Amino acid sequence: MIIQSINPFSQQVIGEHEVLTNLQLQNKLKIAENAFKFWRKSVFQERADKMRNLALVLRKNKEDLALLITNEMGKIISESISEVEKSADNCDFYANHAEQMLKDEYYDTPFKSMSVYDPLGAVFAIMPWNYPFWQVLRYAAPTVMAGNVTILKHASNVTGCAKAIENAFLEAGFAEGIFQQITIDKSQIENVIDSTIVQGITLTGSEAAGSSVASIAGRHIKKTVMELGGSDAFIVLDDANLEKAASVAAHSRMLNAGQACICAKRFIVTEKVADEFVSLFAKNIKMLRQGDPLQKDVHIGPLARLDLAETLAKQLAKTVKQGGKLLLGGEYENCNFQPTLIDFVGVTSVAFQEETFGPLATVTRAKNEEEAIVIANNHRYGLAAAIWTEDRDRAYNLSRKIEAGNVFVNSLVRSDSRIPFGGIKKSGYGRELGEKGIKEFMNMKSIIIE
Ligand code: NAP
Repeated sequence: MIIQSINPFSQQVIGEHEVLTNLQLQNKLKIAENAFKFWRKSVFQERADKMRNLALVLRKNKEDLALLITNEMGKIISESISEVEKSADNCDFYANHAEQMLKDEYYDTPFKSMSVYDPLGAVFAIMPWNYPFWQVLRYAAPTVMAGNVTILKHASNVTGCAKAIENAFLEAGFAEGIFQQITIDKSQIENVIDSTIVQGITLTGSEAAGSSVASIAGRHIKKTVMELGGSDAFIVLDDANLEKAASVAAHSRMLNAGQACICAKRFIVTEKVADEFVSLFAKNIKMLRQGDPLQKDVHIGPLARLDLAETLAKQLAKTVKQGGKLLLGGEYENCNFQPTLIDFVGVTSVAFQEETFGPLATVTRAKNEEEAIVIANNHRYGLAAAIWTEDRDRAYNLSRKIEAGNVFVNSLVRSDSRIPFGGIKKSGYGRELGEKGIKEFMNMKSIIIE
């Protein structure tokens, strides 16, 4: 069986990748098992040296790697370069901090008592295409620094990126088996989860994929971390800096052509400032140039696959039928979907209730800040949210009322190596990044010495 990589802008086939046979897959699992035997005993210094090498390899090759990202999934080239740089920074971050994060913890007891952090084995990762380097390095750098090994099943359309990341690990000096990518069919996923060497599974992707993989992992009593969908609220209150809010709103909704879990998707604005905000928001969206993602003056490239454009068009049509007022965009050709803005979107409409994975912004008007919070929380997802107000105390109090794993005030929602990231409700569970992230797949072993 062959998996193809298709350039979403040109629609050309740019790569063909053979799926592993079950025998080849078992061999890869054996390689991981052998690698774990020595990697678990390695010292932090050795791990950190190699992880810093990996950062160097990524930076040295960033132009080529960025080109691969853009060709496989369509994001504009400047965003691809930033993604590779951010991935390299994350390698340095964990190289510098993992040892301190995993130090023994002592307890105040009449006898000696402590917790130590031991690696568990292989972490099996199932990753999405929207940030094909960042999503992988975000989990892989802490995993490997902790003494675990890892096996990656990447999204099929970015198999070239998966192979490039594996090559980067090898070029950085990591031995075979510490990081392996496997090209498999979904029907082979259970074989991987079932294997003894796999002791944890991390999935970033849709709710449907998360539900399926978590059920399989549950049957095999394996821990999972789930980073799933989102429909982030972007709340604009009466006292917000509207110019800045509107500019960040356009960036937050349209980056990566709207294909990020933490793109702001639902713009909830208090009535008093709604007209002014919508007009500024529309002005910012109109400035965005759509086209060939390799051209430097282009801001929005194509969606990664044709079916994504078709799904978005259906969500838009239903929302307009339900009373939403289309202000901008709405058309698409192949994978190129125009930046779109809909106003007066009701809380029961499709674009409000479902995740929209593309450049489509919805505005919902709220009577006041209390109603804005109720509207924001009226959702199955709870990944992140943004609040715009000039009153920092009020912002803190409102943040505590938001049902999400991350709240940003007067700023673009983004992930940061130093800060735990993850969701609640149907956006998943567990955390990546920061100290919490590195501890997700460790044996926190308590030792008591009388
Ligand atoms: P997806 O279709 O769920 O794919 C993600 C990964 O899961 C891919 O490797 C895919 O493999 C695999 N997969 C899909 N269905 C599966 C199943 N039934 N069983 C096992 N594996 C399965 O998601 P996507 O379209 O790539 O990514 C978009 C989604 O990811 C959005 O919902 C977005 O919000 C979410 N996301 C969340 C975060 C976060 O941090 N919370 C970050 C990024 C994206 P194939 O490619 O072979 O189908």
